[in-house]
Amino acid sequence: MSVITNHMPTEELQALDAAHHMHPFTTQDELAERGVRVITRAKGVTLTDSEGHEILDGMAGLWCVNIGYGREELAEAAARQMRELPYYNTFFMTTHVPVIALSAKLAQLAPEGLNTVFYAGSGSEANDTNIRLVRHYWSAMGKPEKSIIISRQNAYHGSTLGGASLGGMVPMHQQGGLPLPDKHHIGQPDWWSEGGDMSPEEFGLMRARELEETILHYGEDRIAAFIGEPVQGAGGVIVPPETYWPEIQRICDKYGILLIADEVICGFGRTGNWFGSETMGIRPDIMTIAKGLSSGYAPIGGSIVSDEIAKVVNATEFNHGYTYSGHPVCSAVALENLRIMEEERVVETVRDVTAPYLKQKWEALTDHPLVGEAKIVGMMGSIALTPNKESRAPFAAEKGTVGYKCREHCFDTGLVMRHVGDRMVISPPLVIKPEEIDMLIDRATIALDKTYDQIKSEGLYK
Ligand SMILES: *Cc1c(COP(=O)(O)O)cnc(C)c1O
Repeated sequence: MSVITNHMPTEELQALDAAHHMHPFTTQDELAERGVRVITRAKGVTLTDSEGHEILDGMAGLWCVNIGYGREELAEAAARQMRELPYYNTFFMTTHVPVIALSAKLAQLAPEGLNTVFYAGSGSEANDTNIRLVRHYWSAMGKPEKSIIISRQNAYHGSTLGGASLGGMVPMHQQGGLPLPDKHHIGQPDWWSEGGDMSPEEFGLMRARELEETILHYGEDRIAAFIGEPVQGAGGVIVPPETYWPEIQRICDKYGILLIADEVICGFGRTGNWFGSETMGIRPDIMTIAKGLSSGYAPIGGSIVSDEIAKVVNATEFNHGYTYSGHPVCSAVALENLRIMEEERVVETVRDVTAPYLKQKWEALTDHPLVGEAKIVGMMGSIALTPNKESRAPFAAEKGTVGYKCREHCFDTGLVMRHVGDRMVISPPLVIKPEEIDMLIDRATIALDKTYDQIKSEGLYK
């Protein structure tokens, strides 16, 4: 057994990492200079680093470790499956037991009318599948010109060419020649930053109607689908006004546009229901899933598609698939994860107990002088930092300057809380207990106090 506990000194690990490991979304030289943090172990909601510091993981890794760290059952499920059948593919008229069991379970959990799964290794790959799938669907329907996919600015749909093109992250589009053709991005429903003098309700309607304007601009015979996260995650936990999704749904229905709900973060209990579509009242034709599906213990994603799409696509050969589509070990781990979630009533506990508890504490953070608005749905929340709560003004510094400082103070206080610009976001493991929520809020408050003191002394708070 090689369990890496007796590791080399942190400085040596850092030097090797700097020399040989290129990190995602990181300025490598900056990281090498400051020294990377090495996470060595985790249990429940708590991470331990190579120096023995304990840190409360307010982000569930990258929004994914919903069941918490250190679940033996998942390790056992992986080991058992590796011994029995470590790999086999599902391409050429073959299948295996774990992927059958997982598909049946997902069909049972998903909203009515969504009963068929196409697997991928990640959320990005699943969204790449979705691009090809919806275009193939419309072709099979005799409408190959329906190819444009409408998405939103500041959306996150992954990092592959397709995923990043669907996403609306400008810094991502600036690298690698993106977006790919036949994508169109409408405005996001971020009232705090972009709502001006409108009420949130008016603004939500206005942003939803950009979808209708876009459809009318190109003509509905050109539009394949609209894709959106029920609640934008990586964009800063942007909870849309209540008017937004019903209007989007109405427009998709009216013009016969497929609606893809990217549930990669919202799925599997994050919003207090099994899927964010239920929380937001959306009836999607396709749901993208990944992250919480396996609680991050194994890489697996997929697209759950409607009976209508399955019927049309199943009559054709869909020339698409990944070596690891429905990987047996990942399927077994996902299945075990879902079994535990059901058996321990994780989603119900979030909905009825821990999310309401967190919501009340999270919203009370608006008493802090730095915090403008606090938004939260289930176990995903954000606070907007501002020097002026009334005008919702940004700081007199490059966007993200203050958020970054706050994140550093969080780390020093023993809390992982991410910043997206000057919004601070949380997405803790769904199994977080009330006393751990208290700890999260206490540490967040300390970090906010330190940030406040720092930016006052630096003249950024006016
Ligand atoms: C993380 C994420 C993705 C991409 O998933 P990966 O597994 O990182 O490829 C896609 N959509 C949303 C909403 C995400 O949060």
